[in-house]
Amino acid sequence: MTTKTPASGMPTPLPGAGTNWRTRGLCRDEDPELFFPDTAADRRAALAVCARCPVRERCLAEALAEEGGRNTHGRHGIRGGTTPTGRQKLHSRTAKTAT
Ligand code: SF4
Repeated sequence: MTTKTPASGMPTPLPGAGTNWRTRGLCRDEDPELFFPDTAADRRAALAVCARCPVRERCLAEALAEEGGRNTHGRHGIRGGTTPTGRQKLHSRTAKTAT
């Protein structure tokens, strides 16, 4: 039996933002390794958890704010229902529309 613990690697909070939302993250009931997948099956499983998560938007917003303009090598894990590549694309798209 696997002891389930809160996901590691969770983002640092936005300045001035509370962290209570994390207590509602569904990943807290999952194996943290699932959110750092080595296989496509694990990646899909993690994304499925995020898809049901009530704080997905908040989680994604914090990940994007924390990671800023990093490339995919500076982004880690499944966060807010996205992969590192997905977040890099979201950031690029947002940066282009802001100019
Ligand atoms: S969106 Fe995913 S990574 Fe973020 S708190 Fe929810 S389950 Fe965890």
